[in-house]
Amino acid sequence: MAGYREPGRVQILHSIFKEGYPMPIVCTGYAAEDATASLDRFSFSRRTPGPTDVAIDILFCGVCHTDLHTVRNEWGGTLYPCVPGHEIVGRVAAVGDNVTRFRVGDVAAVGCMVDSCQECESCRRGLEQFCAKGLVGTYNSVDPILGGPTFGGYSNHIVVTEHFVLHIPEGMDLAGAAPLLCAGITTYSPLREWDAGPGKRIGVVGLGGLGHMAVKLAHAMGAHVVLFTTSSSKVADGLRLGAAEVALSNDPEAVAAYKSSLDLIIDTVAAPHDIDLYLGLLKRDATLVQVGVPDKPLSVNVFSLIANRRRFAGSLIGGIAETQEMLDFCATHGITADIELIPIQDVEMAYARMLKSDVKYRFVIDMASLARA
Ligand SMILES: [Zn+2]
Ligand SMILES: [Zn+2]
Repeated sequence: MAGYREPGRVQILHSIFKEGYPMPIVCTGYAAEDATASLDRFSFSRRTPGPTDVAIDILFCGVCHTDLHTVRNEWGGTLYPCVPGHEIVGRVAAVGDNVTRFRVGDVAAVGCMVDSCQECESCRRGLEQFCAKGLVGTYNSVDPILGGPTFGGYSNHIVVTEHFVLHIPEGMDLAGAAPLLCAGITTYSPLREWDAGPGKRIGVVGLGGLGHMAVKLAHAMGAHVVLFTTSSSKVADGLRLGAAEVALSNDPEAVAAYKSSLDLIIDTVAAPHDIDLYLGLLKRDATLVQVGVPDKPLSVNVFSLIANRRRFAGSLIGGIAETQEMLDFCATHGITADIELIPIQDVEMAYARMLKSDVKYRFVIDMASLARA
C-alpha cells in the first residue's frame, strides 16, 4: 500500500518502488478508509516526476457521482484507502526532461485516465478509454509504478505522464472548467459520435451534472434540444441552459408528443427508469445513448427497438484527443459547468446533497481549502 495514515510521521515504503526509481513525494488529500468511513485528511506518496511526467499543483477538483459510488463501494471493487476525484484543474509545478507540450506555470487538467498501454488498437485510434491492456484510472486503479491504488484529485498535487494531461484554453473559468473533464467529455463524445448538429433534434433525459452539460453542448453544436426532466422547478433552468423545449417526464402525454421525432437521445439518468418510454421517441435508425449508470439492470421491451430499427447504446468518457477537442470547443463557445464551489471539509455534505439531486449542477472543491486545519 502506497498510502499511510500517521499524521506527522513520514514513512516512505521503499519496497514498493521499482529499482532505480526516484524517491516519492508526500501529498495530502482526503480519503475514505473503507466503505462506511467518512472522507478525512490523508497523507500518501506520489512518484517524483519521471522524464515524461508533468507534476501539477491542484487548484480545483469536481465532485462526480462516480466518486460517491466508489468511496462507498457501491459498484464493488474499491481499493482502499480511496482518494477520489477525476475532474482536475491545476497549475504545472514541474516537468520531466522529455516533456514538450507543458511548461512550469501552465494551467493543466487531468480527467478520468492517467495511463494506458498506448499499443492496442483502441489506444492507437485515440480511444484510450477502451484500452484492452493497461488502462489506469485516475483513482481506484492499481498504480503501475508505486503499487497500491492510484489516488485522485481530492489532493494537493498529482503526477501524470504527459500524454494524459490536457491544456485548459486561456480565459476559461478554472473552477467551472473542472467538471468538463468527466461530465463534459461524457456528454460531448456521444454527441459527436452520433453527429449532433444543426438540423438535428436531440433529446436529453435528466438535468443533473451530466444533463446540464449535454444541454449546453448540444445547443452549442447547433442542435434543437428537447430536455426531459421530472422536476417542474428545472424547466426555467433547462431553457436558460439552451434547451428549445422542456417536457415533464412524469407527464405521459407531454412525453408522447415527441413520439418518433428525435434523432438522438442522451440519457443521463442514473436510477431505474422506463427506457421504453424514451426509445419510443426515436426516429427510424436513431439511437438512445445511455451515459447515466443505474445500479440495477434496465429492462428493455424489444418491440421498442424493432419498431423504427432503433438502437440502444452506451458511451464512456472520451479519448484524450477528443477531450482536448471538447475543452477547445467549450472555450470557443464560452461553456463551463454551472457549479457550487465548496471547501474540501464540506465534501460529505456535498455527497448528501447530491443524493437528493440538490446541486446546480456540479460541486467543485476549492483545493486551497486543504491548507486549512
Ligand atoms: Zn466522473
Ligand atoms: Zn491500450
